Amino acid sequence: MPRFRFHDQLDELLRPDLRGRAFDWRSAENATAKHAIEALGVPHTEVGRLLVDGRVAGLGHLLREADELDVFPADASRPTPDEPPPRFLADAHLGGLARRLRLLGFDTELARDAPDRLLALLADVDERIVLSRDRELLKHRRVARGRYVRARSTDEQLREVLGHYGLRGNMRPFTRCLECNAPLRRTDRAEVSDRLPPRVAAEQREFTLCTGCRRVYWPGSHWQRLRSLVDSLCDTSRDALPAQAPTPQSPMSTPDPPARDHPPQLGRLYDDFVVGDRYAHWPGRTVIESDNSWFTLLTMNTHPLHFDAAWSATQEFGKPLVNSLLTLAIVTGMSVRETSQRAIANLGWEQVRLTAPVFVGDTLYAHSVVIAARRSRSRPGQGIVSVRTTGTNQHGTPVIEFERSFLVACRSAGAGD
Ligand SMILES: [Zn+2]
Repeated sequence: MPRFRFHDQLDELLRPDLRGRAFDWRSAENATAKHAIEALGVPHTEVGRLLVDGRVAGLGHLLREADELDVFPADASRPTPDEPPPRFLADAHLGGLARRLRLLGFDTELARDAPDRLLALLADVDERIVLSRDRELLKHRRVARGRYVRARSTDEQLREVLGHYGLRGNMRPFTRCLECNAPLRRTDRAEVSDRLPPRVAAEQREFTLCTGCRRVYWPGSHWQRLRSLVDSLCDTSRDALPAQAPTPQSPMSTPDPPARDHPPQLGRLYDDFVVGDRYAHWPGRTVIESDNSWFTLLTMNTHPLHFDAAWSATQEFGKPLVNSLLTLAIVTGMSVRETSQRAIANLGWEQVRLTAPVFVGDTLYAHSVVIAARRSRSRPGQGIVSVRTTGTNQHGTPVIEFERSFLVACRSAGAGD
C-alpha cells in the first residue's frame, strides 16, 4: 500500500489522526498521486514538490503498491513592489475577504452562485488565483493556482492572504470599488452632485467615482475605522503609503445610503481606459451548426468545409470547421460591452491570428487587454484606444487573437455620462 507523508503546513489539511506522521493509504485502482492526495483532503493547488521514493514526480504519477510519497506545500510567488500584484477570485463564502482585498487595491472578483466548472474556467481565462474554503473547487483540474484559506474570521483571512502572497508592498488602498471591484477615479462635486445626500454635497470636497458601477465614495464616518485597518496592515506609517494612492477616500459614509436611480449606462469613455487593464468578457457563446452554415452562405463563402459535413469528414479534421470570420465576429462582439460600446468609430483590426481550429459545438470565451490609448491629433476631445483581444475555446486553448482600435470621446471634453 502506498505510504504518504505531508510536510509543513499541508499537515493541517489532513484528518487529525493522520497528521505529523507517515501513514499507509489504500487508494483506488489506477489512481494518480493527484487523486490520492486530494482524496486525503489536500487540493492539488496546495501541493508544490512531490517526491516518490525520493525522486521528483508529477501529480499524474500512477501509484504503485510500494511507493513512498513525500508531499511538500506550494510556494507562493511573491511580487516585487514594481510588479503587478496577483489577481484573485474569491468564492462566494469569502465576500468579506474580497471586500477587504479590494479596500487595499487588489483586483478581486467575487464568485456568485455558479458551478465549480464555470468558476474554474473564469479563473483560468482571467489568470486569477482562486481563494476558497471549498476544497472541491480547488480540486478542479482547471484551477491552476489557488489557496485553501485556513482562517475563519475576515481579518485573519486577510492577514493570511497578505502574508502568504507577500503583498504588503503592493497595497494601493482606496483605489478600487468595494462593491464591484472596478478601479476608482477622482471626480469633482459637479459630476456627482445629483447622487449625493444634501449634507454630503454641502460638506465634502473630495470624491471618487467607480468606473464600473458609478458608485460615489467620499471620506465619511467609516473612514477612521477603515483607515485604522489599513494602517494596521501596513508595515509603514500612513505617510509612507504608496504615492499613487489617492488622498484617502472612504466608502459610502452613511450606513444606509439613500436609494439611487440607475440610468441606462452605455460603455466607457476615453478617460476610463488604462493601458495594461484587462477585461474578462462574459458570458461565453457556443457556436452551433446553423450559425456556421448561415454565416458562411450569407457571406458568399463557398468553401464546403463550413457547410458540407459529409465532405468535411474526408478532410484533415474529419468534421466541419467554423468559419474564422464568424469566430472573429463573435469574439469581437463579446468584447464590445467592456471596450467599444461607446466608440464613435471602429478603426480596424490588426494582427489577426487564428491559433487553433474551432468546431461546431465549441464555446468561445474572451478577454481583452488595453495596449494603447492616445489623444487624437486631428480630433480634439477624442482619443484612440487599442486593445488586444484573445478568444479561447472551452478548454482554455486560444483560438484567435487580434488587436483592435477604436475612436472614443474624452469625458474631459464634455462627453457626459
Ligand atoms: Zn463599483
